[in-house]
Parts: sequence; C-alpha cells; structure tokens
Amino acid sequence: FLKGSTGQIAFAQSVEQIPDYNETPQVALIGRTNVGKTSLIGSLLLGAPSKQKGLKPSKRPGSTKALVFHSFKRKASISKEMILVDLPGYGYGSHIDQGKMIEKYLSSSTNLRAVFILIDMKVMIKSADLMVMDLLNRFRVPWYIVGTKWDKVKGSHIPGRELEARTKLLSLLKDDTRLYSDEILVTSSQVPKSVDNLRLSIFKKCGL
Ligand code: GDP
Repeated sequence: FLKGSTGQIAFAQSVEQIPDYNETPQVALIGRTNVGKTSLIGSLLLGAPSKQKGLKPSKRPGSTKALVFHSFKRKASISKEMILVDLPGYGYGSHIDQGKMIEKYLSSSTNLRAVFILIDMKVMIKSADLMVMDLLNRFRVPWYIVGTKWDKVKGSHIPGRELEARTKLLSLLKDDTRLYSDEILVTSSQVPKSVDNLRLSIFKKCGL
C-alpha cells in the first residue's frame, strides 16, 4: 500500500487490493462525484481539533476511483482511533469496477460501524443516491445523510433556512421505506464548526 500524508494508511484500486482492517472500527464516506467529499474529508482529518481552516487536499490522480483508508481520531490527544474510508465517487464517470469495489468493501467489512452519504444541498437527492441507500440497506449497514456545500446555497445565512432545507431533503425521501435515519447534518467544508459537529457525530454514531 502507498503511504501518504494526513494519516493515509492504504489505497485500493481494485477488489484484490482492499485491505482487511476488521480489527479497527471503520466509518465510510460516500457521495456523487463533485459532492465535496475530498474537501470535507480533508477538513475532518486536518481540522481536528483546532480551528484550522479546511484545507483542500490535492487529489491524487485516480483517487476518486479508489478506496482510500485514513487513520481518524476524534482528538489528537485521544488514543481511540477509527479508520475513515473514502469510497469512490459515483454518478458521472463512474465505472462498474468502482461499484464492485464498493460492494466488496461493504460485504467484507465486519467492523464497519456506519456510512455517511454526502448530498450536495444545492443538487439534493439523485437516483444514484437512492441506489446507494438501497445497497447499504441490503448489506444492513447503518447510514446517515450529510448535506454538503451549505454555504453555496442562496440565503443559507438566514436563520431557519437550514431546517427548511433539511425538511425539503427529507420530503424527497418521505414515504420512503429506505430511510435509515431522519437525522441530517448540514456542513460546509470551510466552516470549522460544522465539520467539528460532523466529526463528533461520526464518533458518537460509531459507538466511540
Ligand atoms: P469530490 O469530487 O466529491 O471529492 O469534491 P471536491 O471536494 O473535490 O469538491 C468539488 C468542488 O466543490 C471543488 O471545486 C471544491 O472547492 C468545491 N467545494 C467543496 N466543498 C465545498 C463547500 O463546502 N463549499 C463550497 N462553496 N465549495 C465547496
């Protein structure tokens, strides 16, 4: 495996390369290409626990098509550790191979505590997102929705807008039996508080 900065511990570009980390609790983030996953993961990993502004990590060529494993801590001083798995982006330009890697990872990870599906708050839910929800339900993995790029939404600074947007997003899934949880966290990768909230929520939902 290739070692990288910011605690990157492994990188898999094919089903055969997926490592076995079942001894360590894991959390995975997934979303459509361009949803802001790289930026958010960069902020989650680099921002802890200081007020450091989210840095946009440089994208390793092909990394959006790979599974990237990072070591992930709630606080630098805390020894409890998880592995944060960056799953390949889906939707535009994705391939069957990436789908196979995602399925293989989901089926073989016995210590996967939760998956967070990222949804661009301007784009909202697309059919590819629904397919991922179905897949996670099939593998019986707990999953939660995380809204991204909230700062880009018109009027997002107005009080009450966020609740409105969360309600709208849920209404798109209303009468929908696929929903695992109706809790939605809204984030902007450049707003440290929203990233801190997400980090705490991830550890809590993963039982750590
Ligand atoms: P990925 O394809 O899901 O990894 O998405 P990236 O993290 O590369 O982000 C895609 C584009 O959206 C880039 O131009 C980012 O700078 C931008 N972006 C990501 N997160 C945010 C955010 O929270 N707010 C704003 N305004 N732009 C964002």
